[in-house]
Amino acid sequence: MADSLTPEERSKQMGLVRSTDTKPEMVVRRLVHSLGYRYRLHDRTLPGKPDLVFKRRRKVIFIHGCFWHRHGAGCSRTRMPKSRQEFWGKKLTGNEERDRRNEAALSALGWTYLIVWECQLKDRDEIARRVRDFLG
Ligand SMILES: [Zn+2]
Repeated sequence: MADSLTPEERSKQMGLVRSTDTKPEMVVRRLVHSLGYRYRLHDRTLPGKPDLVFKRRRKVIFIHGCFWHRHGAGCSRTRMPKSRQEFWGKKLTGNEERDRRNEAALSALGWTYLIVWECQLKDRDEIARRVRDFLG
């Protein structure tokens, strides 16, 4: 079945499943770019493989999905699924602990980070302000 796809259809399909180009990330990338900042993407040499890397400034930006990275209380997108709660509890706690470890490792290396949460993308002006404050 997959063989019947044209190259265009194939790349479109790949684009849909590729986790690195999720929509919130694209929104932030476009916004940061429009502010005039240049960055690298997904630097694997840094803890947590940050989404946007500003090497000269030694700063990174993470764009976090609220569910997977467990945005704090008050975020409606962090609700636990009703089924398989034990599985999800362990999985999400593991994600959260990994994030904390990566953040600590980045700090130890002299990098600073900004986290943009998926639910905050509703207010683009606020994100732009935070990004400018962060990058200077
Ligand atoms: Zn959130």
